[in-house]
Amino acid sequence: MRAMVLGEPRQELSLEDVAMPEPGPGQLLLRVRTCGVCRTDLHVVDGELDRPKLPLVPGHQIIGETQDGRRLGVPWLGWTCGECRYCTSGRENLCDRARFTGYDIDGGYAEWTVADERFCFRIPDGFEDVQAAPLLCAGLIGYRSLRLAGAAERVGLYGFGAAAHIVAQVARHEGRRVFAVTRKRDVEAQAFARELGAEWAGAGTPPEELEAAIIFAPAGELVPAALAAVAKGGTVVCAGIHMSDIPSFPYELLWGERVLRSVANLTRRDGEEFLALAPRVPVRTHVELFPLEQANEALAKLRRGEVRGALVLVP
Ligand SMILES: [Zn+2]
Ligand SMILES: [Zn+2]
Repeated sequence: MRAMVLGEPRQELSLEDVAMPEPGPGQLLLRVRTCGVCRTDLHVVDGELDRPKLPLVPGHQIIGETQDGRRLGVPWLGWTCGECRYCTSGRENLCDRARFTGYDIDGGYAEWTVADERFCFRIPDGFEDVQAAPLLCAGLIGYRSLRLAGAAERVGLYGFGAAAHIVAQVARHEGRRVFAVTRKRDVEAQAFARELGAEWAGAGTPPEELEAAIIFAPAGELVPAALAAVAKGGTVVCAGIHMSDIPSFPYELLWGERVLRSVANLTRRDGEEFLALAPRVPVRTHVELFPLEQANEALAKLRRGEVRGALVLVP
């Protein structure tokens, strides 16, 4: 089968003809219908997440079809031990032995893949394969980030990419007010955010004090900026798996019971909750399609920050 393979970090993926994956115990063989391209894939390819299996087939937002015709989604969380203190307390996202799709396990930049059935999700009807793929990471991580931001009414989204474009819709559905912070002069992203329900979009500080901020951009300097923008008791959530170093900042910014936290991975419960909620919003994903063999072009576009919504590969 054809697959896009990472041989070494910091090199382009190569289109290869590789052996069909063989399902192990508990695994399903899935024909890949679509696979979303995530910023995490970029961090893996660029060597910022530095312990991938090699060679590796990236991709962890997979819409696949089983041999008996069922449509399933394969997310980043590919396997957990089920017995550690995290797994047994509803925090399998923190499992020390967790294995991740498109990192520890070959993913969906291919025509076929295998996945542990217990970690696959049923995809709600009403979402085409291309529309559904970004729900599996951008949507899920965005959803978990919003939950961990608490009951905030005024929510700031820092970096308006694939995750933010979904979270904005969910937040509006829940009656929250959305403020989108983008890079300077990124008027396209600002217009896109307004289209999706942001009442303000711009660079710098939002016009009102926020109750929560979610940082999707991998830029550490946004942390003190977001802390300065949230009210006392507010929460700043760092939603990315990788971020540049955070500059030092005065304690005053954290004082007043402000909370600074990260979001790591997802639990299966997040997936079930979010995929039940998505059709009720209803979430509409904006996608740009690339054929499988143009995965490098898709990643380059993401690296340049030129994406409105999400990128999806179609084998
Ligand atoms: Zn565990
Ligand atoms: Zn992802």
